[in-house]
Amino acid sequence: MSDCIFCKIVSGDIPSKKIFEDELCYAFYDINPQSDVHFLVIPKTHDMQAVKDINEANSNVVAHIFEVIAELTCEMNIDSYRVITNCGEGAGQTVKHLHFHVLSGDNLNENLV
Ligand code: 5GP
Ligand code: ZN
Repeated sequence: MSDCIFCKIVSGDIPSKKIFEDELCYAFYDINPQSDVHFLVIPKTHDMQAVKDINEANSNVVAHIFEVIAELTCEMNIDSYRVITNCGEGAGQTVKHLHFHVLSGDNLNENLV
């Protein structure tokens, strides 16, 4: 999608601190980190704006993203972390391209759930 920040990051039109990419997903550090470690993992395609768009035809990409999160956190020796995805502006979503925040650090002590 031409005016999507995350599509432009995937294409390289906007620079990012890339951690990993494969044919399905792209992982990069958040530009405004909310904890010691804060990166995002996104599908390379724009077909899912948020969790509301996940269905049986595309959920394999979401499963794959969670496999990648497990691998990357293992490689980084991170054993405590939180995975967050905001769905909708009321939940704080600002970029309408499905993304999973991975956060780790001392400020995750307070549990929302
Ligand atoms: P949301 O609020 O939609 O759940 O999360 C969007 C995230 O994208 C925010 O944490 C924000 O800091 C991050 N972000 C927005 N623009 C950019 C950018 O150009 N580069 C990077 N690396 N992160 C971005
Ligand atoms: Zn996009």
